[in-house]
This record gives sequence, structure tokens and C-alpha cells, in this order.
Amino acid sequence: MVQAYDVVIVGAGHGGAQAGIALRQNKFEGTIAIIGDEPDYPYERPPLSKEYLARDKTFDRILIRQPAFWGERGIDMLLGRKVTDVDPAAHHVTLEDGAKVFYGRMIWATGGAPRKLVCSGHDLAGVHTVRTRADADRMMGELDGVTRAVVIGGGYIGLEAAAVLAKFGKQVVLLEALDRVLARVAGEPLSRFYETEHRAHGVEVRLGARVDCIEGDANDKVMGVRLHDGELLECQMVIVGIGIIPAVEPLMAAGAEGGNGVKVDAQCRTSLPDIFAIGDCALHSNAYAEGAVIRVESVQNANDQATVVAKTITGADAAYDAVPWFWSNQYDLRLQTVGLSIDFDDVVQRGDPAGRSFSLTYLKGGRVIALDCVNATKDYVQGRALVTAMAVPDRERLADTAIPLKEVMLPL
Ligand SMILES: Cc1cc2nc3c(=O)[nH]c(=O)nc-3n(C[C@H](O)[C@H](O)[C@H](O)COP(=O)(O)OP(=O)(O)OC[C@H]3O[C@@H](n4cnc5c(N)ncnc54)[C@H](O)[C@@H]3O)c2cc1C
Repeated sequence: MVQAYDVVIVGAGHGGAQAGIALRQNKFEGTIAIIGDEPDYPYERPPLSKEYLARDKTFDRILIRQPAFWGERGIDMLLGRKVTDVDPAAHHVTLEDGAKVFYGRMIWATGGAPRKLVCSGHDLAGVHTVRTRADADRMMGELDGVTRAVVIGGGYIGLEAAAVLAKFGKQVVLLEALDRVLARVAGEPLSRFYETEHRAHGVEVRLGARVDCIEGDANDKVMGVRLHDGELLECQMVIVGIGIIPAVEPLMAAGAEGGNGVKVDAQCRTSLPDIFAIGDCALHSNAYAEGAVIRVESVQNANDQATVVAKTITGADAAYDAVPWFWSNQYDLRLQTVGLSIDFDDVVQRGDPAGRSFSLTYLKGGRVIALDCVNATKDYVQGRALVTAMAVPDRERLADTAIPLKEVMLPL
């Protein structure tokens, strides 16, 4: 049977789901299919290293919409199906089982696959990445047999997973290759704060750590992580959180422009006719990074790009220029980030990290480019305006907690 849709969305994650929702909200009346290689209806990915892993939320509670929603909106869900080929001239995709699905327009929303370690032992049983529900379920299924775990990577996912495991009473060693955690995404005060917090919760944080290999037992089950200096960290579980590789091979093979992602314009159009791309895999020029062509890995980015595409397809004017925001939950700490701190040259601290409520404002050339706010929602909400206005505030007023951030702004 030949299947054909006016819009085919590839990837049933945050961006794909929101694209379907936004198309219907924008009164798109054509046929829509969402093709996803996971078996599940679209669900929220952030809880996989937070509330879902901690067993504070069931899977049902992290579904983006209840299953019946999709049928009610006339959106066909082709789940557990993977797109392996794209033929832009014929306007069809080919699935793993050889089936072809024709499209009028296509939205590529495939996110990325976790980057794997390249050392020996990377594929032993008990070595995990956290990207999908299946990944989290596998980890959760093994937790009872774990007394000691090693987390490789001090980014948000590694830190969040470490926090959950520590909460479960596991001994956790967190290995970061650089000299501080969160080095790629935040300033040093935030890194030091989280290192201190994790240590206070019993996590052994090791910086500048270099992994040599993962060692297994006779049953190919992980038994430890060997460091470059020869030390063996015994453990029953390893969690690897070292970033993702954008899932764009079929598009690249079809001739799309890109590299570490697929290049898109302000309407999220790729260089291939009638093909858009959104979310973690979309390389776009970001207004909050001075127009630099980057990928942003956040729910905000996936959702807002999906909405831009839905508007574009339904004939409305839209361009992607949304303010980036992000959050992370670790222990009782809620981090909220707005803007992108890329290449900041100054950082102003507001409040005392020892009080576990503070914010950092990142500046570049005197202008506010981003804020990291820990248990400081008011700063996050008010600081947003500083980021959008690219405000040039007085440093002392910025640091003064007696002055609300909304009063700090000096318009240009
Ligand atoms: C553990 C974890 C915690 C996170 N925490 C936060 C957070 O706190 N805040 C935040 O803003 N962001 C967070 N993120 C990032 C956020 O989840 C992503 O930025 C977001 O999911 C990106 O949406 P997307 O649609 O681009 O990709 P995804 O949501 O990953 O969806 C892509 C889907 O496409 C599928 N797919 C891939 N290739 C194919 C193919 N060829 N055919 C069919 N289907 C395919 C994938 O399996 C996946 O289901 C977190 C991510 C993870 C993994």
C-alpha cells in the first residue's frame, strides 16, 4: 500500500509532536503523519534524568499528549518505524522495512543519538546512555543490583543522573575530563557550586579525569572503569553523558547542506525542497549567539522551531528568533537559564551560593547575554527582559540583591 501525506514529520519527540500540534492549531487541514522509531507516543525527555528516573513520575505523566489526542486531531502515528532514506526528488522517505511514505512537505525532527565512548568496554552490559524511555527503563531495571555507579561526563544529564542515584543511596563517582563540570555551558561560579553540592550529597566528583577503558567480567558485565593512571573504579553501572550526535544521516545522504546537524534558514527550511528541520538536529543562525550557526539542545528550541514551521506551512509570516531558555533539577535545586552564555567576557554574581539561591548574569562587551538562576525564579523572570533588550546594566546594581532585576535595566 502506498502511503502519502501532505506533511510527514520524521521523529516523534518534542519537536515532531509540537509540529503536529501547531499545524492543527494553525488550522492546517491536510493529512499529517508522524513517523518515530521509538515505540512510544511522544513523551517529555527531560524527566528521563530527573523525575522519571527517580520514580517520582510514571510514564503516563510524561506523555506530551494522551494517545487518543493524535487520532482525534487526524494525525497518523507510525511508531516503531525508522526512516532510513530520503528521496527529495520523488518526495518520499523509505522506512527500515522497505515501505515508502510520500510527502508534500517534510519536517525532520530526529534529535540525536548519544555519543558513545570509543574505548574498549563501551558496549558492556551495565553501560548506559540516557536518551530514550527504553534507556531509562533499562537503567531502572538494574538499579537494585547496583551499590556503586560511575557517571562519565559532568554536563547536565550526567549531573542529574548522579543526583538521582545519590538520592537512591548509591555510591556515585562522577568523572569529568575538564577542570570543572558544566564547562561548556556555564561560568565557573556555577560549576563550583554544583561540584560542592554534589560532594555534599556524597558524590565523588573527579575533575580532569581521563578514562582508559571499561572493564567487564566473564559475562561481559561491567565491573569497573579504568582510568589513565591505572586506577580501577569498581562499579556495577556506568552512565555515559558526553553529548549527542545529530541524527541527520539520511538527509545528508540526500544532499542536504550541513555537517554537525542540518543547516536551516530562519523558517527552518533545509537546502532540500519542501524539507524543514527542527530541534536538536537543526543548525541555525541564532540571534542570541550574534547570528552564529549553532544547534541548541533544548525543549524550548524544538518547540519554538516547530511552531515557526507550522506557521510557515500554513502561510503565516514567521521567523525563528525565540529567546533560549533551559532548566535543570538536581536535588532541591532548580536551575533556570535564559539566553546563551557563549563567549561571555564577564560574569556578575547576585546573591550568595552558600545560601543556595543566587544568579549569575553573563555579559559580553557590557551587554547582558544570559542568566543562570539557582532557586531564584524572580531573577530568571525579570532577567529575561535584560537578555532580550541586550541591556547594558551597571555592574554594582546588578549584583545588589536589594534592587530587583527589572529596575536594573538602563535602556541603550
Ligand atoms: C535525559 C535528558 C534530559 C534533558 N533535560 C532537559 C532539560 O531539563 N531542559 C531542556 O530544555 N532540555 C532537556 N533535554 C533536551 C531535550 O530533551 C531535547 O532538546 C529535545 O528533546 C529535542 O527535541 P527533538 O524533537 O529535536 O528531539 P527528540 O525529542 O530527541 O526526538 C527525536 C525523535 O526522533 C527519533 N528518530 C531519530 N531518528 C529517526 C529516524 N531516522 N526515523 C524515525 N525516528 C527517528 C528519535 O528516536 C526520537 O524519538 C534533555 C534531554 C535528555 C536526553
